[in-house]
Amino acid sequence: MSEAYDYDLFVIGAGSGGVRASRVSAAYGAKVAIAEEHKVGGTCVIRGCVPKKLLVFGAHFAEDLQDARRFGWEVPDCKFDWATLRDNVLDEVARLEGLYTENLERHSVEIVKERATVTGPHGITLSSGRKVTARKILIATGATPVIPEFPGAEHGITSNEAFHLERVPQRVVIAGGGYIANEFAGIFHQFGSQVTVVNRSDVILRGYDEQIRDRLLQISLTKGIDFKFNAQFKKVEKAEDGTLRIHLTGCDPIEADLLLFATGRRPHTEDLGLESAGVEIDNKGAVVVDADNRSTCPSIYAVGDVTNRVQLTPVAIREGQAFADTIFGDKPTRVDYDCIPSAVFSHPPLAGVGLTESEARNKLGSVKTYTSDFRAMKNVLAGRNERSLYKLVVDGETEQVVGIHMIGPDAPEILQAAAIAVKAGLRKEQFDAVVALHPTMAEELVLMR
Ligand code: FAD
Repeated sequence: MSEAYDYDLFVIGAGSGGVRASRVSAAYGAKVAIAEEHKVGGTCVIRGCVPKKLLVFGAHFAEDLQDARRFGWEVPDCKFDWATLRDNVLDEVARLEGLYTENLERHSVEIVKERATVTGPHGITLSSGRKVTARKILIATGATPVIPEFPGAEHGITSNEAFHLERVPQRVVIAGGGYIANEFAGIFHQFGSQVTVVNRSDVILRGYDEQIRDRLLQISLTKGIDFKFNAQFKKVEKAEDGTLRIHLTGCDPIEADLLLFATGRRPHTEDLGLESAGVEIDNKGAVVVDADNRSTCPSIYAVGDVTNRVQLTPVAIREGQAFADTIFGDKPTRVDYDCIPSAVFSHPPLAGVGLTESEARNKLGSVKTYTSDFRAMKNVLAGRNERSLYKLVVDGETEQVVGIHMIGPDAPEILQAAAIAVKAGLRKEQFDAVVALHPTMAEELVLMR
């Protein structure tokens, strides 16, 4: 198949999408190489979902240890050692990087640990100067953190660096209102930092149901996380002792030991040479693709965050799989983007699937909502005044449950199962017909009347 070219497929980027696409394409018999300029595994494994979730687990012990006393445990004064957690997390990341590498090698995918750029419809140049050709090229370069431009912005870090900190900062300013900002706000707060979230608008977690995100804001404020809304960065000054003086519009300067930018992620297409092959890039830097992940150059495809469709790992994986099935497996497959569940691993976490109440009102007109606002049994005994909120959004005419949104302990775990019902198009009466599993939090899903 590859006589005219060095490879049948050359993948740029060994992250969630690229690894899946190359492994499956190779299993179909294609001769595949994959280039990676940082570490095999990509954002999710190396500096995203995985280390983030491990920090969330680590952070949660702060509350668990406190609550344990109400459950009869004599807990001595516990001290948290950041270096232990950081190094254990980094070891785990290294272990996973090894597994991903082994998996690719087992499938005879050649791993090229270099930056790659495109030099034409079938041409790739590696940073060593080596030039290769491929019948198909897959762009799976992901996205990179956006840093706003203002004087002193270079004193801030992004999530990329947050996993390697020397120590837990006493005072942290987090720029942004999205999921990464709220997750790190919870993490640092639990580790004892004084956290201020600075948001340029007055809304956090755009895209999630309003009632649910309001509940997170209320709980976060009660815990002691500070929020500055409608605030823009003017400048940041760094004193000799390392203290950052952060000047914002509309409020007094804030002193901090760490400034973390969680201000969005831009598709990673800069200096990738895509123009040499006539690949169209949109105004956000994303590779424009059709439903089969094909760019405007017929031999070049793109999957994952670089296409800026839904920036989530399971979506990148599905797109990589669909690409391989379609191009090398003779099984034309398209990703279904309807009802993708997502979560924010804040403290407490929240999760949602399907339409929010306002989306449903715009789309359907007639909408019914059912909510359950309760204190989880464990929180009651622990004396933790933190209320969970579950919400069903139902089509007023057909009674189909078109959205589920929840905040509370284990909400993402519960929502993953509930998402099956929403995706399957079940009606409210079918939820009601299920006997509650008692005593659980999830039983609220079948008890809302
Ligand atoms: P990536 O995984 O980003 O992989 C792209 C790879 O390409 C990178 O390894 C990069 O080094 C490499 N590369 C780029 N350019 C080149 C080049 N020219 N040559 C060679 N290599 C190149 N998603 C979830 O679903 N759940 C979560 O909980 C979650 N948490 C997250 C937390 C954080 C802090 C961040 C930053 C992201 C999180 N995400 C989460 C998003 C998730 O990580 C991405 O959606 C996913 O990794 C996208 O996969 P991808 O294959 O498109 O790109």
